[in-house]
Amino acid sequence: MALVVQKYGGSSVSDAESVKRVAKRIAEAKRAGNDVVVVVSAMGDTTDELLDLAAQITPLPPQRELDILLTAGERISMSLLAMAINNLGVKAKSFTGQQAGVITDAVYGKAKIVDVVPARIRETLDRGQVAIVAGFQGVNRASNDVTTLGRGGSDTTAVAIAAGLDADVCEIYSDVDGVFTADPRIVPTARKVDRLTYEEMLELAASGAKILALRAVEYGRRYGVPIHVRSSFSNATGTMVAGTHGDLIDPNALTSTAQEAGVEAPIISGVAHDRSEAKITVVGVPDVPGMAARIFEVVAAAGANIDMIVQNVSAAHTGLTDISFTLPEADGPLTLAALNGVQKEIGYDSLQFDDQIGKLSLVGAGMKTNPGVSARLFGALRDAGINIEMISTSEIRISVVTRADSLDAAVRAVHSAFELDSSEGEAVVYAGTGR
Ligand code: ASP
Ligand code: MG
Repeated sequence: MALVVQKYGGSSVSDAESVKRVAKRIAEAKRAGNDVVVVVSAMGDTTDELLDLAAQITPLPPQRELDILLTAGERISMSLLAMAINNLGVKAKSFTGQQAGVITDAVYGKAKIVDVVPARIRETLDRGQVAIVAGFQGVNRASNDVTTLGRGGSDTTAVAIAAGLDADVCEIYSDVDGVFTADPRIVPTARKVDRLTYEEMLELAASGAKILALRAVEYGRRYGVPIHVRSSFSNATGTMVAGTHGDLIDPNALTSTAQEAGVEAPIISGVAHDRSEAKITVVGVPDVPGMAARIFEVVAAAGANIDMIVQNVSAAHTGLTDISFTLPEADGPLTLAALNGVQKEIGYDSLQFDDQIGKLSLVGAGMKTNPGVSARLFGALRDAGINIEMISTSEIRISVVTRADSLDAAVRAVHSAFELDSSEGEAVVYAGTGR
């Protein structure tokens, strides 16, 4: 008998029929003798629809109210799911994040979980019942207000609850069979990856892969929670996210494909893409000590999470340079306003804002010991006629910025240049709108 945490995403519970279908899976897991805790997202595209609704009321809704609004989505799915499970003769009870003991900091819209006190969940399990928990939400102790964890936050709820209960596994159910070498919606020949280390999955999630939320992976790594990413529409084994680099050098921990090929580990674990970023260029910055420090102090104070930074060589005759950086598109307006406020002080010429960019990232732990990976990546983009605007690298990742409208073509070109295509035909996307 195991303690299993199962998380179902919005596309797995998009209507009454799919709620009943998922309920059957949960009842089966329970009847097989497991203790089962379920974390559920809002139905279908509910969260986006609630956001659209708020935007029709006001362009800048108070964040406290927005969080209360958004938590409603998960309350709908959790209660319907509990009803459906009870209908099958298995006792189930649903809990809001607050009732489940998910304690967060006070940052509305992107709250961090600071503690999990799952007393009511344990009590429910001890009674032999299934506990259903609303994903993506918690409560701040000081204000007693509900908070949300940021988009995709139900994954984080699931892993945090799994850690808090010391569960055997956290299963993340979505509309595809696991983590693929690229988004199967863009590259139908993408291959399912059997196993990833936390580090590889962290890089993929940080680079825009939406299959698993970044915070959830961070949480999983910190507490050593094995995460099984799989489809709620099939019984296929998905992708196991567990272990670190060190483990992969242990021959017993090799992936099956790597074993067959007789190599240590695959060089590349996947190609991720991100359309949600924008680029700000500060034009004509005096090339003297302290300017970058000042610019990024201002950007940090505006609350923007910056990603790539490029500073050009200054033109010798002017002593001026341009500094470009990428950030989440949504942080653009506040950041531009903050930089505008220090134009005189810093003495730059102008600001440019570009939200038509796309970012492609190639991720793999084997990359750092394999020369020529960058050359192959750039060559693939050249052959596809795609211009590179920015480049950044880490030990196990190379990212490039392109025009947004050439991003899909770039992902396909790089995916095939690294021979990641599956020999088993096209990947199945079972549901979802990809929104
Ligand atoms: N419903 C929330 C969202 O759409 C949380 C989640 O799905 O994980 O972002
Ligand atoms: Mg999600």
